[in-house]
Amino acid sequence: MRKAAGDDHWVIGSIGPSGAILMMGEISEEELYEDFLLQVQGLADGGVDALCIETFSALDEAELVIRAAKTTGLPIICTFTFENGFSMMGVTPETYTEKMLKLSVDVLGTNCGNGLDGMVDYVKAIKTVAPDHPILIHANAGLPIMEGTDTVYPETPERMSAFVPEIIEAGACIVGGCCGTTPKHIRKIVEKLKVENLLFYY
Ligand SMILES: [Zn+2]
Repeated sequence: MRKAAGDDHWVIGSIGPSGAILMMGEISEEELYEDFLLQVQGLADGGVDALCIETFSALDEAELVIRAAKTTGLPIICTFTFENGFSMMGVTPETYTEKMLKLSVDVLGTNCGNGLDGMVDYVKAIKTVAPDHPILIHANAGLPIMEGTDTVYPETPERMSAFVPEIIEAGACIVGGCCGTTPKHIRKIVEKLKVENLLFYY
């Protein structure tokens, strides 16, 4: 990807949560830290320009991965996933933001969730606690529904991109897509953004 992107585009290395719950003793902090260290070093060796820690829900796990990510010296993005106002581990956007500021994360935000319009309140909440930080939004193309054996995401590129002005107005400056978004969604979002520097894609 580094080669294909050339020198004039950023390549961001993505890191998701482990799936284990520290609080339940499913893994030790030391083991988890070592695992994250391997991941961030691999991504740094591959030539990424920044690290995007995403879809996290627990503050203790996020702290470990951020500590590991800091050893690379790369810029750090860390986004949590919220549903109905809380992450899966009960963290609010405000508490998440306070913790990220303490850990000196470079870019804040949220990913996954329920469409771009579902992200507006989270952006506002993050902005209240961190008014000067860049905010990234990678929304799903709506909540997935099952059609037979297929998982389908309901939001079309047109509907999703229609919310770009609102999300920017709320305070986001990097917009892209998470589950269910396709190159067509991203193309439409870019058209709305008009400013290429504001775009992230994955
Ligand atoms: Zn997602």
